[in-house]
Amino acid sequence: KQPITVIGGGLAGTEAAWQIAQAGVPVILYEMRPQRFSPAHHTEHLAELVCSNSFGAMASDRAAGLLHEELRQLKSIVIGKADQHQVPAGGALAVDRGQFSQDLTQTLSQHPLIELRREEARAIPEGIVVLATGPLTSPDLAEDLRRFTGMEYLSFFDAASPIVVGETINHDIVFLASRYDKGEAAYLNCPMNKEQYLQFWQELCNAEQTELKDFERETAKFFEACLPIEELARRGEDTMRYGPLKPVGLSDSRTGERSYAVVQLRQEDKAGQLWNMVGFQTNLRWGEQKRVFRMIPGLENAEFVRLGVMHRNTFINAPQLMLSTLQFKNRPTLLGAGQLIGTEGYTAAAADGWLAGTNAARIALGKEPLILPSTTMMGALFEFISSASPKHFQPMPPNFGILPELGEKIKNKQERYGRYRDRALADLKRFIVDMLSC
Ligand code: FAD
Repeated sequence: KQPITVIGGGLAGTEAAWQIAQAGVPVILYEMRPQRFSPAHHTEHLAELVCSNSFGAMASDRAAGLLHEELRQLKSIVIGKADQHQVPAGGALAVDRGQFSQDLTQTLSQHPLIELRREEARAIPEGIVVLATGPLTSPDLAEDLRRFTGMEYLSFFDAASPIVVGETINHDIVFLASRYDKGEAAYLNCPMNKEQYLQFWQELCNAEQTELKDFERETAKFFEACLPIEELARRGEDTMRYGPLKPVGLSDSRTGERSYAVVQLRQEDKAGQLWNMVGFQTNLRWGEQKRVFRMIPGLENAEFVRLGVMHRNTFINAPQLMLSTLQFKNRPTLLGAGQLIGTEGYTAAAADGWLAGTNAARIALGKEPLILPSTTMMGALFEFISSASPKHFQPMPPNFGILPELGEKIKNKQERYGRYRDRALADLKRFIVDMLSC
């Protein structure tokens, strides 16, 4: 059989290469380290954890924990090794990072069907290929990817605003409207009076920021047009009121009044469970974001599925380019996985790697590529990245807001998340039985 090429030996590429080899198909895994290092990687091992050593909450009624459990059921090598090298970390699945990636490197190197080539891939090769070069894809390959996808479909910088869970927004305060009543009312608007605005402005100016890494500071220079909200605030008391918080054309239909300032929330998913804070890209520390943004009327109890970030991140516009099988629409023999396709976090990268590797092997074996049930956390993530609005696409971590709603309303959050989990694992069990039979 012709070998499948996997490019990038990070979390996603390691999982993809393993799944291909386990399916009986030979694979060549390209990893550019130690010949060439990204600005964040420091070792030569596969699946290096570039920052925290945590894969997120372990409990299966938490989004990360459910994803771990689904991956265990699917015999993921990354989660298997994470379990094996676990260190105590409260409720989180944290690992001894050295042992974890050394073990994965050794295990993959010993597999008779995996050839590990320590080389940089500078262009996308022919044949069946899984691209998994991560948020810091090498410049030559990124350039080739840009040629392949079209200039506007590849980003090098992630300036994302926080995303709020819809049901935690106070609907007694916010109102639904579009500016100047244009089109269908599409935004949730958080109205502020002068006192509330000034308090918020002051806290925002004084809030603590994260330190940008040197390579991120370099990249940030090119994004003068996309300023962090705290930087805008520091430019003057009224700057935000003439920018993203401008109140013109927005009156509350319940009172007919115009506010002093308005924070707008834009719908992020088809079901309206997730809302994006418009213009709130930020470098504030996560704790500070929660503290300050909860001062916004209507967001007192807001829960965030992701907080704002501004960092270097190479990612494609997956909704424009990809199917939920993780194949590219215009070249089905090319598959993508990991942060490069717009999922976020170590566990999500392993999940992408599982599907991209499994489907690459299935294509080589003449079988139909798989689609995971959208009721599972994995399936919901792949559904989201392939069907979100291409216009506003930003990377997404696993979260319950992307799952299809349950047939009934369950008020208690823990109970609801437990029900999501039960449904996901039951549907996954059926999926595995079907998968093994075809
Ligand atoms: P990676 O793990 O980055 O793997 C990509 C691999 O491809 C690398 O090994 C790279 O050397 C290789 N490569 C790149 N280009 C080429 C090429 N042309 N040829 C051959 N090989 C190539 N996520 C978290 O969950 N928790 C965190 O704490 C966290 N902190 C982060 C901190 C930083 C500074 C960055 C940049 C990201 C962080 N992330 C974090 C996100 C994290 O990168 C992803 O969750 C995860 O590593 C993505 O996995 P991946 O396989 O897509 O990419």
